[in-house]
Amino acid sequence: MDMFESKKKKIRPGYAAILIVVLGCVIFGLSSTYRLTYGIEMSNRKIVLNYASQTASRLQDRFERIDSSLKELIKDVGEREAALSDICRRLKDYDETWETDGSGVLFADGTTMLGDGSYITFENEIAMQDVISYSAQMNVSQQVINGKEVLVFSKPCEYQTEGRIITGMFSVLGMEKLQDMLGEYGYSDSSFLALVKNNGDNIWKQGNENPNSETNCFEDLERLKLHSSDSVMQMRNRVKVSMDGTLIYTKEGQEYYLAYVPLHVNYWYLIVSTQSEIIDYTALSRQHYIVSGVLLAVIIVMGGLGILYMAVRNRRMTEDNQKLQRATALANQANAAKREFLAKVSHEIRTPLNGVVGMLELAKRDYESKAKCLEDLDKAAFSAEYLHALIDDVLDMSRIESGKLKLMKETVDFFKLKEELEVIIHTDAKKKELSVHIDSAQLKHRYFITDYLRLKQILMNFVSNAIKYTGIGGSIFINFREEELGEISNVIISVRDNGIGISPERIADIFEPFEQGDVTAQNRSGGVGLGLSIVKKIVEIMGGDISVESEPGKGSTFTVRLPMETAQAPKKTPGGTEEEDITGISVLLAEDNVLNAEIACELLAAKGAEVTWAKDGEEVIDMYQKAKTGTYHIILMDIQMPKKNGIEATKLIRKMEQEANIRQPIPIVAMTANAFEEQRKEMKLAGMDDCLYKPIDLYQVCTCIRRQTGKKEVE
Ligand code: ADP
Repeated sequence: MDMFESKKKKIRPGYAAILIVVLGCVIFGLSSTYRLTYGIEMSNRKIVLNYASQTASRLQDRFERIDSSLKELIKDVGEREAALSDICRRLKDYDETWETDGSGVLFADGTTMLGDGSYITFENEIAMQDVISYSAQMNVSQQVINGKEVLVFSKPCEYQTEGRIITGMFSVLGMEKLQDMLGEYGYSDSSFLALVKNNGDNIWKQGNENPNSETNCFEDLERLKLHSSDSVMQMRNRVKVSMDGTLIYTKEGQEYYLAYVPLHVNYWYLIVSTQSEIIDYTALSRQHYIVSGVLLAVIIVMGGLGILYMAVRNRRMTEDNQKLQRATALANQANAAKREFLAKVSHEIRTPLNGVVGMLELAKRDYESKAKCLEDLDKAAFSAEYLHALIDDVLDMSRIESGKLKLMKETVDFFKLKEELEVIIHTDAKKKELSVHIDSAQLKHRYFITDYLRLKQILMNFVSNAIKYTGIGGSIFINFREEELGEISNVIISVRDNGIGISPERIADIFEPFEQGDVTAQNRSGGVGLGLSIVKKIVEIMGGDISVESEPGKGSTFTVRLPMETAQAPKKTPGGTEEEDITGISVLLAEDNVLNAEIACELLAAKGAEVTWAKDGEEVIDMYQKAKTGTYHIILMDIQMPKKNGIEATKLIRKMEQEANIRQPIPIVAMTANAFEEQRKEMKLAGMDDCLYKPIDLYQVCTCIRRQTGKKEVE
């Protein structure tokens, strides 16, 4: 449940991130589409309106110049009191200057006269009355002369010449001239410019040769489909108050933009209409697309990175979980193995212990009969031996399991090893009438650097098993071979017997602790089932490998392949081999057991050491304190001692050294039967430098003394 919840919690922000990215994309997409449509529409309206305003002001400008020059002409004629012929000439000049289609005067009797002396009749007379009534303003009226649409610019005046009264002057401009004034309309055929009155009546429409003056732009637009935000009514209202504006309409499936701008002439309006697709909004849309594209790319990249990050994180989490599960499984396995091992150890210990206790009880009971009593004691001794072997093996296992098994590096004489083997095997082999053959002919070297004791332990295990599991009269072959690999050689040792063999289904288990193969309860004595598992571990630590071939009823062959450095023959010393030479080393031995102390003193002295004995923890402190610095080179400290145990004594000695400011503290080596890791830690914390296990092996003691006193680095 917990795991599930924590997993859920971890993944949720990731999904939220993806959701946010997706929502962001959707919102961005929708807003972009809206902004694009709306933006383009607004921009197009502006473009058309701008164009219309510019065109209108150009037209307005032109109209105003025609009007003001007409005013100038009137003023000039009046000042100079010009004759009629003179006026006519001036009017002709005026036409040439302003490219008008004819200019003339209006007499009080309503007749007209053009610059060339001809007369024209205006069909729309009302317009001329406007000239008078709106005298102060520019007057442009729409007229039809000889069926041709024209614009007439007129100005009132009061001038008398040659007996005739002139009431106004006018100038006629053909509608087609508007085209030139406005310039070419820059869009296309489907677009147009138009002049309309504020009631919507068309005055002029670009391109229309003969515009139907009947047409009305409002009515035209009412027939078309307009944009939802536009209406003709709106346009009418705006036009009424001289406001400009735009609208969008659809004609024959095409969308048009229309702009209307007021001209300050007779409330006329200029209208510009153009197809939407003609308006150049590509720049705008390109810019928009670039911005959108970049943003979208950023979002996609970020989204992609987010998804990638999540995928990687999820994968890492899964991997971590798997690793954790594997580690937990391994730890559980190791714990289970440890529990199983302990259960087996306690079971295995109880059996011989019961044997010892039981046999001692029997011995007491059989006290009267010497023979029976001795038999009981023998059996008790046998069980005790078994117990001893078992405890040794368990301690070995414990040391190996805690990774504390340190290998010695020493020169080993394989000739001597072979001799030793022969001696050890001899008695047991003889008992079972076994023939033993040791062949070392294939060894190319005699000396190798390895851990002698461990090597002997491996060999002895193989050999004792071979003796144990081979019937009377059988044979054992021990073979030494060497594979040279430069400075290092592989030494291959095999022990072959023709004993009971091991069944294939059990063969894989024999290297497991307490596995005893096909051994029956009867032939079990003498083996505790730890030997091969210890051997396998030692071989692995030595960098080698181990194998077994066996056939039930035919025998077994155990083989180890161990890499070893080859060596030269060691120099001989009076104390024995060089590794055991402790000549001149002064040893302070703390040991409460008198017998043990005597043996140790003698053996160490035989190797050249000077040994001083302290019988308990207090005495050793006292002796060390009283002695001059350098008197003793090393202290061998028993742990279980009266008055003060080895740990307490060591602590006090270290304290003394600190107080006396002694720069080179004396090496203190523990001697204990207790080899568990906890005790080792305690010894180290107390200030001990090394540890030797009881029963003490002289070789180990010597090499340890040498190592600790710096006589020669051997490890
Ligand atoms: P044990 O102390 O019982 O000999 P080991 O770990 O040395 O324990 O060996 C484990 C088991 O392997 C033995 O109990 C035995 O069944 C089998 N075994 C070992 N060596 C031999 C051999 N040479 N011949 C037959 N069986 C053997």
